[in-house]
Amino acid sequence: MSRETKAAKRERAAKVEERMFSHYGPGEPSLDYDRDPFRLVCAVLLSAQCTDAAVNKVTPKLFGRYPTCFELASANAEDVEEIIHSLGFFRSKAANLVKLSRKLVAEFDATVPNDLDLLQKLPGVGRRTANVVMAEAFKNAQGIAVDTHVFRIAHRLKFAGPSADTPDKTERALLDLHPKETWLYINHQWVHFGREFCLARRPKCDLCIIADLCPSSGGGNHS
Ligand code: SF4
Repeated sequence: MSRETKAAKRERAAKVEERMFSHYGPGEPSLDYDRDPFRLVCAVLLSAQCTDAAVNKVTPKLFGRYPTCFELASANAEDVEEIIHSLGFFRSKAANLVKLSRKLVAEFDATVPNDLDLLQKLPGVGRRTANVVMAEAFKNAQGIAVDTHVFRIAHRLKFAGPSADTPDKTERALLDLHPKETWLYINHQWVHFGREFCLARRPKCDLCIIADLCPSSGGGNHS
């Protein structure tokens, strides 16, 4: 597998994607956001270093009190902290929620931009969050969101090499292998796959739906 050509790797990537589609379909997001791009930005920002389930526990109260960017723009960060304090980094997340709401109101006509670069100008919004919003809210994927699941799976599948040691480099490796029409689905599918089979600690290689396509299957490098 170490001498696999780019063409062979692309072929393997296509087969992996076919299996993901048969097993998960297009994949569903696990964050609740009421189909509202603003709420999605907030929920994805809150999900950094936390589980989506933990975020889904706090967002009903958060959006009950601050339904749109207008209310959140005039909130006190301390009041927001109280609602989201069960999440990691809740202080900086609360501050960013208020700042990004103010920026949306002041500079974006209170509308979440359908643009990967503009999204990343919002406080607390990095490339991962921007990619999720482009794919999920606007169905206009401009990249692949690389979270902990996607990063791990890309490396176990050897779609990203050892030098792709950051999410950005891993994303570039994936974009080079997967055709653009699949970018919309990969994050959702791989997140579900990472929870069902390719777990961080003990991957279930014996049950895995792509074991025959994976160089790390059955005791390979699971780092
Ligand atoms: S075979 Fe194992 S390491 Fe490879 S993708 Fe499946 S669960 Fe992950």
